[in-house]
Amino acid sequence: MKEKVYVLDASGIIGGFISSKHINITNSAVISEIKDLKSQMIVESALKEGTLFIEEPDSDSLNTIQNEIEKSGDVLRLSEVDKELVALALTLKKKHDPIVVTDDYSIQNILKILQIPYKSVLTQGINEIYGWIKICRGCRKKYPANYPEDECEICGSNVYSKRIKK
Ligand SMILES: [Zn+2]
Repeated sequence: MKEKVYVLDASGIIGGFISSKHINITNSAVISEIKDLKSQMIVESALKEGTLFIEEPDSDSLNTIQNEIEKSGDVLRLSEVDKELVALALTLKKKHDPIVVTDDYSIQNILKILQIPYKSVLTQGINEIYGWIKICRGCRKKYPANYPEDECEICGSNVYSKRIKK
């Protein structure tokens, strides 16, 4: 079985989608699009931790993407960075099982044509990795995120929200 990998575009990274369960891959063109400091720090630490990798598409895949775009006429409007990201997914498909994480409709459209699965960050990405629970400061009892009280029903201490990785 091929290994599942996430291929992240800038919206995926800025949206906070770096999976802890699977390898995350992007390319240097996407990294150069990330301008905000917080996302840059997230990228840097993910690279250090070895959860995020930077790879480049091969020329074979770039040609395939270019051909698809020319065939489509004006339908597929992709920037150079977008093209390289889609080509990277195609390159990775040779050895892995890539899922592209993107909110960009043009990218999603060409992925449909190429039969590469994708997911949108805003609709499901973040929920897949993170959830919330509430925890009592006193006895550490765990409550669901929608527990309506501020105080623990067991010991009366304050309850606080915590983001957890699923
Ligand atoms: Zn308690």
